[in-house]
Amino acid sequence: MVTHAQRHSRKGVPAFLLNCRRGFATLRALTFADRGLTEIPPLMVIVMKKGSSREDLARVTRSVEALGCRAQALPGVEPPTLAVTGSAEPLDPDIFERLPGVARAVPVDPPFKLASREAKLEDTVVRVGSRSIGGGGLFVIAGPCAVESEELTMETARLMKRAGADALRGGAFKPRSSPYSFQGLGKAGLVLLSKAREATGLPIVTEAVDHASLDLVDEHADIVQIGARNMQNYELLKRAGRLAKPVLLKRGMSATLEDLLLSAEYVLAQGNPAVILCERGIRTFSRHSRYTLDLSVVPAAREATHLPIFVDPSHATGRRDRVPGMARAAAAAGADGVMIEIHPAPEDALCDGRQALLPQQGAELIAQLRAIAAIVAKKAEAVR
Ligand code: PEP
Ligand code: MN
Repeated sequence: MVTHAQRHSRKGVPAFLLNCRRGFATLRALTFADRGLTEIPPLMVIVMKKGSSREDLARVTRSVEALGCRAQALPGVEPPTLAVTGSAEPLDPDIFERLPGVARAVPVDPPFKLASREAKLEDTVVRVGSRSIGGGGLFVIAGPCAVESEELTMETARLMKRAGADALRGGAFKPRSSPYSFQGLGKAGLVLLSKAREATGLPIVTEAVDHASLDLVDEHADIVQIGARNMQNYELLKRAGRLAKPVLLKRGMSATLEDLLLSAEYVLAQGNPAVILCERGIRTFSRHSRYTLDLSVVPAAREATHLPIFVDPSHATGRRDRVPGMARAAAAAGADGVMIEIHPAPEDALCDGRQALLPQQGAELIAQLRAIAAIVAKKAEAVR
């Protein structure tokens, strides 16, 4: 009897295993669950003939390994099927289809061709002024949620410079949950950020919310932020991909790591290689926190992609007293950077005052983060 999966298959491989995200999830689950094997998605699936011998399978495995790749049998799958990983280049199916006992060798299109670790083994390093992001070290972005006034922006910038921050944040275009909340100063806010950069030398990180603001932000920012709510605004991502400027892409509040990487892929596919990912908390059933900070995404991202990964503990926790601990945890987890909200007078803030650290708290935290990052770097060195 022909099953539904066989009917909808390409070259005898069940369709659900190929060219779709569900297929990848299934392959990964079949291949890697409980086996402590690598999480890298396969490049090719080799399906053996019914009745093929163990020796046939061993021969195929040897020929895969001779190319410097790995072959892993999918447990419980009949006829025996191998997932091939470990090649940066596409593999030629003919090499395997010629071997005795092989029914089909089918290349699998990775869902993220440019963002994946397979596509590029070494970490992406994004240059921002004299500093770099990724490839070791911790980059600290600090500043108010929103640009509110010249005085606030200049004061915070000077304090953050003194505290050892690497860049100043502040939204001129604010994507607020309520249409009645402060929406940002717009272009005037960008001009204030540029002034703050002039005064302190700190690079500017600020958000674009649509095409028009992206063009304006591009004129002023050193790093263009795409917020959680716009992570799946694909037209905006394409446009950001045409900028000659780093893009800080925040994880959507209901997005998986794979969703985030596919969004990054939109930017990369347009020719902009400088994408920085940022975890900022996701929606779960937990009520004790504004969002749930998914710190385990840091090592998972490290494995799945060469792009740098940041953590924003301010939006994740929503509360000042919880920010330092989560920021320290992010540094300990090996994040490439953190983004922290700071405000000299949080009680008067027009946006997110409850989660803003006072400048002095911010300065203390940055010093602690530097110490933690140094320990993490030493540990990484020792492992190498
Ligand atoms: C922000 O960083 O200013 C912001 C709005 O964050 P998010 O997009 O993560 O909500
Ligand atoms: Mn905010």
